[in-house]
Amino acid sequence: MIKPKANYELFHGENVPMPASKKISLKKSVGQNLFARESGLPPVVEILRGLAAIPSPSGYTGEIVSHISKIAEKAGINATKTNKGGLLIGNHPFPEIVVSGHIDTLGAMVSGINSNGSLAFTKIGGPILATFEGAYVTVLTTEEKAFRGTLLLSNPASHVNKEVATTERKPENMQIRLDAEAVSKEEVLKLGIQVGDFIFFDPKFEYVNTGFIKSHFLDDKAGSSVMIDAFLTLGSNLLKKMPVVFFFSNFEEVGHGACGGLPTSAKEMLVVDMGVVGERVEGDELSVSICVKDSSGPYDYDIRRALAKLAKELKLPYKLDVFPFYASDGSAALQAGNDLRVALIGPGVSASHGMERTHVKALEATKSLVIAYLKHIFKMR
Ligand SMILES: [Zn+2]
Repeated sequence: MIKPKANYELFHGENVPMPASKKISLKKSVGQNLFARESGLPPVVEILRGLAAIPSPSGYTGEIVSHISKIAEKAGINATKTNKGGLLIGNHPFPEIVVSGHIDTLGAMVSGINSNGSLAFTKIGGPILATFEGAYVTVLTTEEKAFRGTLLLSNPASHVNKEVATTERKPENMQIRLDAEAVSKEEVLKLGIQVGDFIFFDPKFEYVNTGFIKSHFLDDKAGSSVMIDAFLTLGSNLLKKMPVVFFFSNFEEVGHGACGGLPTSAKEMLVVDMGVVGERVEGDELSVSICVKDSSGPYDYDIRRALAKLAKELKLPYKLDVFPFYASDGSAALQAGNDLRVALIGPGVSASHGMERTHVKALEATKSLVIAYLKHIFKMR
């Protein structure tokens, strides 16, 4: 497996802030007064910070899968990779409920090298390029060399281009400006960069002492961190008795994440993915959303009623919601022909697929609801 981390860190010296990196202290890089002390982070936020530091666009998820496997194994919980590279975590041989999130994210890939030495790219999933413009990126070659760069408009200087403000932000009008002394296609090829190299956007992770978490790719690293916190809280022994498995799919953002890889014993799927926040929806960043319907249709009526009842009893901040332009791994699993009852919950995430934000209260409410639902269904305490 390729391990880009060593190379990746070459570009983050002491003076370069990269708050998601495990090696750089939050307070040192972004100011002591505004941000939580590293040692005092709530567990779910610490887990999320670890996930945010590992790039994982669809198609490049090996490193983050290993990271989650190690967390599970250290806690005495079995981790099994699916053929497609997803991850199943649990200790019961015949799991009936699958708690499912996705560890793949949006991203980009080199699609060509321009004559001026900049890189053309194709999107992976649906990042909103206007909000990623100016992002610092890492380009990883197949030989494991990493280069830094910036996502910019083509011809981006306002002193030579009168259309900079009005040009549509789409791949055809944009480029990666490479931080290398290479100003021709030939020179870039000599660096070892070629079509198919992954482009990782810096996540810009910040945990603010008001409880807000700002980062790219909270969809679905927020949900994934909730799931990790949940299986660690349930623990190895309870998971031996509880027929549940935690599934981390790795191709959700491109539509086929949970189409395969589910255990044949599964009867139900509880998807943990981001709750929608915006105009004409109910969700917010402080609550767990319980999705009643999305673009793929209604979710299971009985399960969502049970979830809402539990949330109410536990006084969790929750919202029943319809997501207008949304599909999930639950939809993928059903469309692939799986015979499952499917429900969907998740922390409210604002500005989805852009500069996202959620709150620790939403993460903790989602975790509490996952655990409460499992204990309720299996009548365990
Ligand atoms: Zn998602």
